[in-house]
Amino acid sequence: MSSAKKPEHPIPYGRQDINADDLAAVVAALQGDFLTQGPAIAQFEAEFAAWCGSRYAVAVSNGTAALHLCTLALGVQPGEKVITTPITFAASANCVRYCGGEVVFADIDPATALLDIEAVRSLLDAAPAGTYKGVIPVDFAGNPVNLEAYRALADQHGLWIIEDACHAPGGAFTDSKGNKQRCGNGQFADLAIFSFHPVKHIATGEGGMITTNNPELYEKLLMLRTHGITRDPARMHENHGGWYHEMQTLGYNYRITDFQCALGSSQLKRADAGLARRRAIAARYDAAFSGSKVGTLQTTAGADHAYHLYVILSTDRKGLYDYLREAGIFAQVHYIPCHTHPYYRGLGHQPGDHPRSEAYYSQCLSLPMYPTLTEEEQAYVIEKVLAFHA
Ligand SMILES: *Cc1c(COP(=O)(O)O)cnc(C)c1O
Repeated sequence: MSSAKKPEHPIPYGRQDINADDLAAVVAALQGDFLTQGPAIAQFEAEFAAWCGSRYAVAVSNGTAALHLCTLALGVQPGEKVITTPITFAASANCVRYCGGEVVFADIDPATALLDIEAVRSLLDAAPAGTYKGVIPVDFAGNPVNLEAYRALADQHGLWIIEDACHAPGGAFTDSKGNKQRCGNGQFADLAIFSFHPVKHIATGEGGMITTNNPELYEKLLMLRTHGITRDPARMHENHGGWYHEMQTLGYNYRITDFQCALGSSQLKRADAGLARRRAIAARYDAAFSGSKVGTLQTTAGADHAYHLYVILSTDRKGLYDYLREAGIFAQVHYIPCHTHPYYRGLGHQPGDHPRSEAYYSQCLSLPMYPTLTEEEQAYVIEKVLAFHA
């Protein structure tokens, strides 16, 4: 194999793709009448809901705000227990803490690095009924969780489900009837959330979305997004005139801007093309690493992976990380197990609590994965990863 040259600019693990159409869409929104609450928001929400197959979508300032609004809308109370995975971005767990709830981690399935439903089942079976209020599975790396299985378990134990679908817009799993179920389509989870941070599939700068099929939750989210205020006369206790509105609950300002949503709509037009490109990149990595010493993760049976990340497993992860960095490849680690962060240790969680997550963490590395990664760049990444393991 010929040795490719070190790239002029480092190759990141993920990056946004902004084209001339995106720029034109943002400029048009900026030249319009509304900077914040204009028509581009409702348009982006409607387009995103249609794309996911959900009834409703609520655009918000970022994915973390989306998670917080979900725990608020579901009414998480201080001390209430909610289950999630250690292998996720901390926000998946933190949203429970924002409401004073208690985060209970369950370990991962090492084959997929997804929250292990059997570990969740064990927790539920071992506790008195009503101990747990909800579960937050994460479509980690873009690999869709089988939410039909989670729904059945959640219904047995009276739990709600928030699907953290930040990694998986456009992903789908196959249900027991053989139907494809798109991430965030609201068929099984009560609420699903997405992020439009630049490393995610669709970029709006900062930005997020909640999808749901539940009309009551939808109405709550709309109010909570904007201070708990309603201007809908049908919902008000009194009405003093055209200016009148009521703050009915303690909400937040988690609104997104009109020009960000104009960017989101423009980006959404290329989401399917971006997914196809991500899948082609993954197929090439798969082929390159099969039969090598480089470990990879399995995809949920029958699922369409959305490949936010392409994770490899290496017994000398630190060595590999440093070697790639030296070669101008900025691979990344996803994630440091959430329960081992000092904040969660301070709440009584400890290293050793979730050995499969910790073993996964010791080996995982996310390789460059984004639609504009060129074939040449990918060939260089593959060459370096294989050379390290030779
Ligand atoms: C990015 C991300 C979030 C948070 O999204 P922000 O828009 O950065 O607040 C939450 N969960 C997961 C799994 C993520 O990857």
